Amino acid sequence: MNKPTIYLIDVTNRDGVQTSRICLSKLEKTMINIYLNEMGVFQSEFGFPVTRHETNYLNANLELAQRGALPRIRLGGWIRATKGDVGTAFRMVPGLKHLNLSMSTSDQMIMHKFKGKLDHGSVISEMTEAVRDAISRGAESVGVNAEDASRTRIEYLIEFAAAAKAAGAHRIRYCDTLGCETPFSIYERIAKLVEAVKIPIEVHCHNDLGMVVANSVAGAKAAIDCGQDAYINTCVNGMGERAGNADLVSVILAVKYGNGMQDYRLDPGLHLKTAWKICKYASYAFGVSIPINQPGIGANAFAHESGIHADGALKDRRNYELYEYEELGRGEPEIIETGRKITAGEYSGIKGFRNVYEKLEVAFQNDEEATRILELVRYANVHNQKPLVDDELSFIAKYPEIARKIFTMQP
Ligand SMILES: [Zn+2]
Repeated sequence: MNKPTIYLIDVTNRDGVQTSRICLSKLEKTMINIYLNEMGVFQSEFGFPVTRHETNYLNANLELAQRGALPRIRLGGWIRATKGDVGTAFRMVPGLKHLNLSMSTSDQMIMHKFKGKLDHGSVISEMTEAVRDAISRGAESVGVNAEDASRTRIEYLIEFAAAAKAAGAHRIRYCDTLGCETPFSIYERIAKLVEAVKIPIEVHCHNDLGMVVANSVAGAKAAIDCGQDAYINTCVNGMGERAGNADLVSVILAVKYGNGMQDYRLDPGLHLKTAWKICKYASYAFGVSIPINQPGIGANAFAHESGIHADGALKDRRNYELYEYEELGRGEPEIIETGRKITAGEYSGIKGFRNVYEKLEVAFQNDEEATRILELVRYANVHNQKPLVDDELSFIAKYPEIARKIFTMQP
């Protein structure tokens, strides 16, 4: 058996997109899944199976996985832990294999959100019924989210998690929904939970106190110290509700390079080579720029100006750099066209379109194929409302049928 391991479950396509002012098109969500797969992330929480405008996107991405385009990553849906949601999810997205079922567990939410609809007993029975139902309908892995776990009485949280495990759940998601944890408190609470229930833990933290990465790493450390696997929830560029979730790249860096973390096993499939690409892409897709001081990715992450620092870094990078920029996929110059540029968009014609794809070294078998792809590219542009990037153009040419499904929505 492997040593307990830290895996990543990225929630950009769920917590990220449910955030105020943050949107991704279904094509952009698909590209995020592709990049996360390339990075070796264990699972992408790829969306909301009971939300109608997600249906075609979710089914198309499961088909993409079936066709071998997402060989590593698991695609997991997020729903409420109710039998109703489970039934709807499998009716709308029959190929679902991985699910997280969410239920509030704090006194605050049970009393002031459910307002008598559910009490502590029925919270547990509703959740266990949903877990059993999901498994009977073909879910291969089920995580149970304890929403507001950080404000939940620990005895009740243990009872809730034990019931989830007995019903067949594979993981408990410890949600610091309000971001009130500190590394010390979350370590203690997750250690108590794991010692009592012996189940792998997902750590889902928010950055309201600016400690999101520290809390995520401390929570994962507690699970591992107690002999269970840990799954850290991340978002690209730290997006997510309010002050955000744990930044994907920062979490990997913290586990790899943090003092005292060397003996903790990080999912060996993970690497940072795609970090630069996915962060730049997400920034463009979200329309949110990357702060210059963002760990690993910001413009200043490897910049030195003051005399002592510049001199030291030039003598030996290890004087002032904790990790190497090449590891994050940085260091290659980016080529920007400063002269004539033909773009492909919603009103493009065939000549300009062919020019764009020639530059990508994508050849079409005949005019008919080119016209078909052009039509899809037009729709993609309507869908994204911004110029398409090269990887999106290549994706459409490679998987036209999948792209067509992704763009199709019927309210
Ligand atoms: Zn959240």
